Amino acid sequence: MQPRDLSDHSPYVPGRGVEEVARELGIDRSELITLSSNENPHGPSPAAVEAIREHADRVNAYPKSSHADLTDRIAEEWGVSTEQVWVSPGADGSIDYLSRAALEPDDRVLVPDPGFAYYAMSARYHHADVETYPLSIDDGFTQTAENVLSAYGGERIVYLTSPHNPSGSVIPLEEIETIADATAEETLVVVDEAYGEFAAVDSAIPLVSDRDDVAVLRTFSKAYGLAGLRIGYSVVPEAWGEAYARVNTPFAASELACRAALAALDDPDHVAESVETARWAREYVGEELAAETFDSAGNFVLARVGDGSAVAEAARKRGVIIRDCTSFGLPGCVRISTGTREETREAVDRLNDVL
Ligand code: PMP
Repeated sequence: MQPRDLSDHSPYVPGRGVEEVARELGIDRSELITLSSNENPHGPSPAAVEAIREHADRVNAYPKSSHADLTDRIAEEWGVSTEQVWVSPGADGSIDYLSRAALEPDDRVLVPDPGFAYYAMSARYHHADVETYPLSIDDGFTQTAENVLSAYGGERIVYLTSPHNPSGSVIPLEEIETIADATAEETLVVVDEAYGEFAAVDSAIPLVSDRDDVAVLRTFSKAYGLAGLRIGYSVVPEAWGEAYARVNTPFAASELACRAALAALDDPDHVAESVETARWAREYVGEELAAETFDSAGNFVLARVGDGSAVAEAARKRGVIIRDCTSFGLPGCVRISTGTREETREAVDRLNDVL
């Protein structure tokens, strides 16, 4: 007995752990600067850590009320109904729930190229085909309705990423509306705002209330510093609300994760500090790195360096872990996550030695 033919599915290969890299380089873990996964350099909110501690000895129980409490809290925060909030294990979980709710075999999904890999992975798990719309390095990955619509051919889901990973570009709300207006009634436009807190633009969530064809993804992994807990959500159109009970994996959003997310929402100072640091650091990298960089609204900066894998490897040898963008189809680029001010200054110094 074999698994089904998965040769079309690109494997997910996790990055190596910091301990392993430090051991290989013969340095202490504390000397490594890890800027490859867009994580929060300030760590989680202390209030979230406290909430986890308080509940640690009760994890024998399945998640109960905290899931509903978190849903209510998010709904209140955005002024939408609780049915419209789909809590999930990370934004990735919401991508799967939307795939389950939307896709029939042989449906098609439209994704950005370059772009976040999980849209296509999830579509393929659900027996859908993947089409791409190009974002061009030559115009700084500018996102417009025109470049999406010129590739659109009736796909069931159209993914937009704002801020976009890996470039950091944003798509204006008017362009999103133009796309939703121009696409078929059966097309759901999904706006991925995993990095939304770092951008100085409005969320597309109010559009979800006004129309029946836009959904928005959000996560606690980035600005809230809870990536390891796997907690995120989507805001879906009213008519999609009741599908949640039919598509969500029971108990996938853990009690610890829900409680930590609630505590993090009650600690706006931590988010504000995280956002401020990221905004400072992306400016600093843009100004001080000896390479062409792209304006970013996220907690990372894309840089054009010639040979991305050689630069990432040379940086690693100097104790700075950054993302080689070859797997995004950008072999000439690296993506540098924003660190603390100290880490960012030190990383730029070390990177400039290898550029
Ligand atoms: N969307 C984008 C654009 C991302 O970069 C990521 C994480 N790298 C995610 C979604 C998923 O985030 P998570 O599952 O951790 O919430």
